Amino acid sequence: MRPLPKLDAFNRDFWTGGEHNELRIMYCNDCDAFIHPPRPVCRHCLSDNVAAKAVEGTGVVDTYTVNHQAWHPKMEVPFIVARVALDGAPGVYLTTNIIGCGVDEVEFGDRVKVTFERQDDVYLPLFEKIS
Ligand SMILES: [Zn+2]
Repeated sequence: MRPLPKLDAFNRDFWTGGEHNELRIMYCNDCDAFIHPPRPVCRHCLSDNVAAKAVEGTGVVDTYTVNHQAWHPKMEVPFIVARVALDGAPGVYLTTNIIGCGVDEVEFGDRVKVTFERQDDVYLPLFEKIS
């Protein structure tokens, strides 16, 4: 059980792409740059010619921390909060959780791939180690 994001016209593709097993990142068709978090105007060239684009769904653990604090009564601790640098989307880092392994099994530079956890209409992009 996690707090869910509020969907809007610009972040909907990011939060629901998992329904099609796709990690979708906002992309500017004018300057060929990815934009995350999703927004209606490109942060690089201010174009509004932006649309969500599926990326590979793999990446590298850029940094991480182990969280021991249960902010929510149903939250199971400890867990890993990581920043993942996405393959094929330079400059895009997702703050996410690494699941499927112990909290002492993650290292900087680990290769990870996306996996989606569905809650209501939202498909949370989480990551697991590529073994
Ligand atoms: Zn742009």
